[in-house]
Amino acid sequence: MFLGALRPSSMTISNDTSGQAASLAQNPLRVDAARAIIRAAVRPVAAVEHVALRSALNRVLAVDIVSPIDVPAHDNAAMDGYAFAGAVLSNAGAAAARAPLSLAVVGEARAGHPFERACGPLECVRIMTGAPMPAGCDTVVPQELVTRKDSHVEFDAQNVAPGANCRRAGEDLARGRAALDAGRIVRSADLGLLASLGVAEVPVRRRVRVAFFSTGDELRSVGEPLDAGCVYDSNRYTLYAMLERMNVDVDVLDLGVIRDEPSAIEAALRSAAASADVVLTSGGVSVGDADFTARMTATLGDVAFWQLAMRPGRPLAFGRLSAAAPGSSEGGALFFGLPGNPVAVMVSFYQFVRDALIAMSGANAAGPLQFAAASSTPIKKRPGRTEFLRAVAMRDAAGQWSVTPTPAQGSGVLSSMSRANCFIVLAHEQGDVAAGTPVDIMPFEGLI
Ligand code: AMP
Ligand code: MG
Repeated sequence: MFLGALRPSSMTISNDTSGQAASLAQNPLRVDAARAIIRAAVRPVAAVEHVALRSALNRVLAVDIVSPIDVPAHDNAAMDGYAFAGAVLSNAGAAAARAPLSLAVVGEARAGHPFERACGPLECVRIMTGAPMPAGCDTVVPQELVTRKDSHVEFDAQNVAPGANCRRAGEDLARGRAALDAGRIVRSADLGLLASLGVAEVPVRRRVRVAFFSTGDELRSVGEPLDAGCVYDSNRYTLYAMLERMNVDVDVLDLGVIRDEPSAIEAALRSAAASADVVLTSGGVSVGDADFTARMTATLGDVAFWQLAMRPGRPLAFGRLSAAAPGSSEGGALFFGLPGNPVAVMVSFYQFVRDALIAMSGANAAGPLQFAAASSTPIKKRPGRTEFLRAVAMRDAAGQWSVTPTPAQGSGVLSSMSRANCFIVLAHEQGDVAAGTPVDIMPFEGLI
């Protein structure tokens, strides 16, 4: 049982919600401990598929891509000018240091049109950027530095070092070496790099399949009338968007809104686990009377119900559903029961689910970017939990980064996520923050 180790600070679901509430409240799990448990539970998908180059964008390389050629394939000019043998510069010697060097122009090389014969010691070739260096040449004098005199060019030898302005064959990527490592998420530069190697088909891991649904009798779908006491279901839209905008592609399966009814939730969990590697739900993981999601998972797999030492996003269920169909993920689908509050859903996704999906995709990507900025205001913070505030980071006139929390920090206030451009991350042990003190921020750019 892979969750066995976490029983002291958490517990599996039982129908005894009152006892559960009492014991969990005393001992919430730290965010870093929850992350470690999740990381240990993740098994990367194994299947590999071959996709056309463009379709490899945002996919995870299944193998090292070894360069079949040198890039560039030949020594070539880095500037427009004249190519010659750099040895002539030292031969020019101290005695002639004041006299300009004169070389005979014997031909021309343009990109795609090499100069076909060798170039002698006191000869040079008119050359354009990207053109292959003629045999015998290793140096380019930029055209701005020369004076053209009929069939000769003259320039000051002291202005050019031997080997200058020449790009060496293989200096970008050497033939036979790994150009990109397995586990890399293919980004824009990588797609171009694969093209520069002439790779037309790329071996990538199959996409992780993610199924999700919202729970709650009060939820109405967009397009339906909003009955008294009801709210529109926004979590399915934020979940869809967060999944679609991840830096790695996943397959997304939206299972709709499920009522707060044990049998309906059980059926939805079974069908989700049968068709996906990861099941996400929102709502129903607190200790209220209608919170069935966590309790139902107890009958379907090995799921723990956590109270986390964090804000927002205190309740979270995590584990594995064993009701998987033959052929789906080995050992059943991973399960994240996210809280219902719209901001808590987003924070829990970014702090736990995103990393798990990236690891499950087979990627070895670094975590999200985090850096320090001065808090423009004092922040109240109780030691003993990790807090994720929605905030706006800005650069002041002096070029310094400062950050201001959005005014409303309630876990239901989705507009705070919409207005913010970063999280302020206040670590578990951190106490109150004085104005002007540096705090860690996690920019949304590239994350959200
Ligand atoms: P729960 O965790 O189910 O008790 O829900 C906590 C709060 O989040 C309640 O105010 C719910 O109405 C709200 N909520 C739950 N699910 C959603 C959803 N899908 N969209 C918007 N609000 C939700
Ligand atoms: Mg609910």
